[in-house]
Amino acid sequence: MSDGTTTAGLGPVVGEERMLIDGELRAARSGKVFETVNPATGEVLGVAADGSADDLDDAIGAARRAFDSTDWSTNVDRRVAGLRQLHAALVARTEELRPMTVAEVGAPLGMTHHAQLNTPIESLAWVADLLEGYAFETDLGNAAPLGIPSHRWIRREATGVVGAVTPWNVPHQINLAKLGPALAAGNTVVLKPAPDTPWCATVLGRIIAEDTDIPPGVVNVVPSADHAVGALLSSDPRVDMVSFTGSTATGRKVMVAASESIKKVFLELGGKSAFVVLDDADFGGACATAAFTVCTHAGQGCVITTRLIVPRSRFDEAVEATAKVMAVLPAGDPTDPGTVCGPLISARQRDRVEEYLRLAVADGGSFVLGGGRPEGLSAGFFVEPTLIVGLPNSSRVAQEEIFGPVLTVIPHDGDDDAVALANDSIYGLSGSVWGERDRAISVANRIRTGTMGINGGLWFSPDVPFGGYRQSGVGRESGIAGFEEYLETKSLAEPA
Ligand code: NAD
Repeated sequence: MSDGTTTAGLGPVVGEERMLIDGELRAARSGKVFETVNPATGEVLGVAADGSADDLDDAIGAARRAFDSTDWSTNVDRRVAGLRQLHAALVARTEELRPMTVAEVGAPLGMTHHAQLNTPIESLAWVADLLEGYAFETDLGNAAPLGIPSHRWIRREATGVVGAVTPWNVPHQINLAKLGPALAAGNTVVLKPAPDTPWCATVLGRIIAEDTDIPPGVVNVVPSADHAVGALLSSDPRVDMVSFTGSTATGRKVMVAASESIKKVFLELGGKSAFVVLDDADFGGACATAAFTVCTHAGQGCVITTRLIVPRSRFDEAVEATAKVMAVLPAGDPTDPGTVCGPLISARQRDRVEEYLRLAVADGGSFVLGGGRPEGLSAGFFVEPTLIVGLPNSSRVAQEEIFGPVLTVIPHDGDDDAVALANDSIYGLSGSVWGERDRAISVANRIRTGTMGINGGLWFSPDVPFGGYRQSGVGRESGIAGFEEYLETKSLAEPA
């Protein structure tokens, strides 16, 4: 079902109102809908079914039945075929999805050719290949534990019903990074997207229902304006695992709620990653990359580096080089192919970022660049790329996740100090280090995060595990490790 709004030059924005439950595309039981808004213009794009606890109950019931009474969990060929069909359907519809993604997410058009659309679609092909070659059984040979000669082997099995809860910042990436491996492993899924980007999930539901033979109930998509509906996935005993991506604050709640039924919990949470520049680094390259990174998608990425940690002796030089690039990076209309820094997702998110900008000043910081709203973009939810100096690493602005195009520059006094500052955070999701190779790798190895880029190297890819240390999460998404998160391990033995 579509709304016909046109995004300038990109073709019609085609959304989907209906949720997917038990193979049926349908309205919410209550008949209620909620609006989805274009963050670049503030315009209402259309509506999505407003799922309630009743709808979620239906979806969990359908996922449970599909897991317990079909061969989905054990039929590898069927799953490979389903994933390949879904991949092919998404490839065929990529150009239809692109304007919708730009309009609903506010994702700069250029990003849809990578992380916001094309890369996640391609990740399904990678998962299907992995599944085709994956050994679900491993022979451990014979042994005589307790004097009983036995032949032992290990079998990997699907976990069961997976509740997948996702955020709005890179919705296709996160929806598919959960759906692909969860389905490949033989699970059934209830996907609950963020209220800000329901269509990115409901359109996926429609494509699964209409363009694939994935059986009814294997994938269910329930959008809702009410966060409490997603919370039910953590507490319902019919759900075996919650795969959650979102803020650390919500992740804590998911963990607590899931503890009642001892659910497997997989968490991808927030970050406050450090971009460390050593004194022998290529300063021009490092500072330009730090500037580009924080402006990408207006800083709305959990792995985006938001603390720039530079040698005290070259502080002014680093600030100047970074500001110079931030000042000219294309910002504004996400439908412009050159735009790097688009809008924030909502007025609420803009308010949140602006609150941190006020806090930066109140705590003694100052803006080298930005600090307000850009001129001429009053309709959408924009904030200027902002560079802050004068705040210590212990300040709230340097410690808390802002999720905006805001970079704080902090001086260090050598490699040990840089490592200590990078690690002085409750988070541990990502990071970057620039300097002579061996020295940079040594620093990267000492920083307690799940991913690190060295001198501009990029790890983001379907075959690379991604996730957080400390309060940035539990478990890994993508790669073989990501696939295996969705498997149980059964050990078996027979008399030898
Ligand atoms: P959020 O935590 O507010 O919401 C995420 C999802 O959880 C939404 O679908 C929301 O409806 C749902 N939700 C809210 N309360 C819930 C509850 N009690 N139980 C279950 N579900 C609940 O996050 P957001 O604002 O949508 O997204 C931004 C956050 O996501 C940032 O903190 C960012 O760092 C994080 N994020 C992390 C990763 C990662 O992989 N580590 C990736 C992207 C975003």
